[in-house]
Amino acid sequence: MAKSKKKKSKSPVTLDFAPAPESTPVPLRKQYDLFIDGDFVAPSGGSYFRSVNPATGKPLARIAKAEDADVDAAVKAAREAYENGWQPMPSLERGKYLFRIARLIQEKSRELAILESMDGGKPIRESRDFDLPLVAAHFFHYAGWADKLSYAFPGKNPKSVGVAGQVIPWNFPLLMAAWKIAPALACGNTVVLKPAETTSITAMHLAEIFQEAGLPPGVVNIVTGAGDTGAALIEHEGIDKIAFTGSTSVGKKIAESVAGTRKKLTLELGGKAANIVFDDAPIEEAVEGVINGIFFNQGHVCCAGSRLLVQESIHDEFVARLKRRIDTLIVGDPLDKNTDIGAINSKAQLKRVQKLVDSGIAEGAEFYEPKCPLPENGFWFRPSLFTNVSASHSVAKEEIFGPVLSVMTFRTPAEAVQRANNTCYGLSAGIWTDKGSKILAMADQLKAGVVWANTYNKFDPASPFGGYKESGFGREGGLHGLLPYVSL
Ligand code: NAP
Ligand code: MG
Repeated sequence: MAKSKKKKSKSPVTLDFAPAPESTPVPLRKQYDLFIDGDFVAPSGGSYFRSVNPATGKPLARIAKAEDADVDAAVKAAREAYENGWQPMPSLERGKYLFRIARLIQEKSRELAILESMDGGKPIRESRDFDLPLVAAHFFHYAGWADKLSYAFPGKNPKSVGVAGQVIPWNFPLLMAAWKIAPALACGNTVVLKPAETTSITAMHLAEIFQEAGLPPGVVNIVTGAGDTGAALIEHEGIDKIAFTGSTSVGKKIAESVAGTRKKLTLELGGKAANIVFDDAPIEEAVEGVINGIFFNQGHVCCAGSRLLVQESIHDEFVARLKRRIDTLIVGDPLDKNTDIGAINSKAQLKRVQKLVDSGIAEGAEFYEPKCPLPENGFWFRPSLFTNVSASHSVAKEEIFGPVLSVMTFRTPAEAVQRANNTCYGLSAGIWTDKGSKILAMADQLKAGVVWANTYNKFDPASPFGGYKESGFGREGGLHGLLPYVSL
């Protein structure tokens, strides 16, 4: 009797929540056309592809596939708008459009969050409380800069660059669009944007907001399609500046194709961030921070804390606590407010995650996953972790871009720095300790664009974000984010 009681107290505290699905109606359309020169137009080749809801595997809408001729029309519209409207416009007036867009995003944020979760699979709690507030905040932030560029670059004469070609990934569809479009417009440039094939829907609703805000035709154009549409945009001769966020492999291809041309280029690529936990860290908070760092948005985050470096003396206790917490995570319907982990963005991504996990198991790392049931249809992966990982294992080196954490240990701060920097990437890192001096000393030595201390995945439009090494170059956000869009 006493024995079974003891066993019970060890099991995780799981709370049963009644389903709480979102019920706000959304204006999902059956078909989305291209947004060129202020209008929605059919693609010249007449082809459409399907966008799927990854939580059900069922199609949501038909999306236009832009051909080279459509990309060309979009670039020409952007050039015309640049020369004859947007660039000559007083900067104060340009700022007003951005403020208007930001306010409209706030007004429609609930429906946009639902659409984002339906098309991409992320939990509504994230799209509603993280993505959408930041999308609006980015437009507000850069709206404020529009007429203050001379303060941003004192003593210089900042001029716009021209037409920006921007290609974005599927993990933060609207947020990436905001990161790209807002600074470009604030500096007087016009834009052609290519969203990711699996998550184009909210970009087209953003286009409707541009129309509603009265943004002059051609200032922003959106061409949907797959990688070949992105390549057509990057290679177009009418583009002055390229901004790309996506994988390191595609980023390398783009860098090659742009080399020797006059185009300006910024790349935001992959990551394999280390979250470093010292034995003096507040342990409950660190567990929660590590969980947030890797399982946020199903691990579809370039700056995800996918490698946990934990000080050897607390390894066993920390891993035991992590496992207990993982057991309580709720995996399921992205539109349910209680869901912690939603659907993997696509079947292809699920296969990629599974393949890397299989290689981790084959190489001898120890795999742990909770027993939680997964929905029958759609694309799902349980939040999981690898222990007994060595630096040479592929799960310690390669970006998994899924909800999988690899745990390693260290003994001294110097070893933690060496291990954390032992990667071809350098986008972000986390430090957990109660010593401020340790935080500063570590942050100085970590080769990462962002270093969070006793927190993780915190963003603000005023803070720059970007990588070292193969994580790319150039910064987005804040004053630094203006630089790629001006010539001085
Ligand atoms: P991806 O395959 O590189 O795709 C990114 C974008 O590029 C998509 O719009 C894609 O179109 C397009 N594209 C594909 N091939 C292209 C080509 N040859 N030329 C021009 N465009 C091309 O990356 P992903 O799998 O979608 O996204 C995940 C990756 O993005 C991860 O590696 C992640 O770390 C990185 N990421 C980085 C950041 C950052 O800020 N550093 C942020 C988010 C994601 P389709 O999707 O339609 O094929
Ligand atoms: Mg989709």
